[in-house]
Amino acid sequence: MGADIIDGKGFAARVRAEVAGHVARLKSDHDITPGLAVVLVGADPASEVYVRNKGIQTREAGMNSHEHRLPSDTPEADLLALIAQLNADPGVHGILVQLPLPAHMDAEAVINAIDPAKDVDGFHILNVGLLGTGQKAMVPCTPLGCLMMLRDRLGDLSGLNAVVVGRSNIVGKPMAQLLLRESCTVTVAHSRTRDLAAVCRGADILVAAVGRPRMIPGDWVKPGATVIDVGISRIADGDRTRLVGDVDFDSALPVAGAITPVPGGVGPMTIACLLANTLTACCRANGLEAPE
Ligand code: NDP
Repeated sequence: MGADIIDGKGFAARVRAEVAGHVARLKSDHDITPGLAVVLVGADPASEVYVRNKGIQTREAGMNSHEHRLPSDTPEADLLALIAQLNADPGVHGILVQLPLPAHMDAEAVINAIDPAKDVDGFHILNVGLLGTGQKAMVPCTPLGCLMMLRDRLGDLSGLNAVVVGRSNIVGKPMAQLLLRESCTVTVAHSRTRDLAAVCRGADILVAAVGRPRMIPGDWVKPGATVIDVGISRIADGDRTRLVGDVDFDSALPVAGAITPVPGGVGPMTIACLLANTLTACCRANGLEAPE
């Protein structure tokens, strides 16, 4: 006996197909095509890969992809001017500025310059506040993908003990807010948490978003727990490298009830949710009901 392995890749493909279906109907019924603008400043290799994949999947879903590549020494004022232009463009329904930005830029100021209605990453302070107060918000893509997998696996989450390891603004905190909205009893752990092992052992739902390879061993996992591993680290494996998560998959597998693999778990869901958020933004901008 071992945990069910949650197929994030397959789930993400289903989400993308659903989004593509809605996009096709928006076109045929309303002559509207959702548009996503992705802005990349500099040439960070990992960001290049993400941006390329986002563009491919956006087009595959039938949406327009607007890619803007700026040199790393672009003045912040020029980036803000581009964002203002995209905010005003009725053909652009979602705007994503790929992080990290070069050191001379103030990432918070840049993100907060995006029209909150087009903020498909859900990082704008207004969307953070809307989510925190339980109102209709643009929800950050990675935690949204995690929640979709949890709901699919567990149905009603209310009353479950959820432990989120990591408190970043892009994953840990919004994940905790979403689980609270689902009426979980939520604990947020971080680098100062005492006896993390004991905290994790109390989790019916364990979400790991740290970025430390295999730091959570199987004996920290409650038997039957649902484990969502957000972490992605590249480690040496002989003369090659490979990706691993924050959870030690091999020792957690016999203990957990279900677990996401790395790669193939949370990662693919993130872009699928970006497409879903762009569709939502487009529907709202046109006064149409957004699909659930
Ligand atoms: P951050 O570095 O911003 O945050 C890491 C968090 O982990 C911090 O809150 C930190 O605590 C906590 N932490 C660090 N060390 C420990 C420890 N020993 N014990 C407990 N907590 C600890 O990372 P992100 O949230 O941006 O990303 C987390 C991971 O998720 C990364 O591996 C990243 O690559 C991955 N990721 C994956 C995505 C996907 O699509 N699958 C998307 C986004 C991220 P403190 O606040 O106290 O410093």
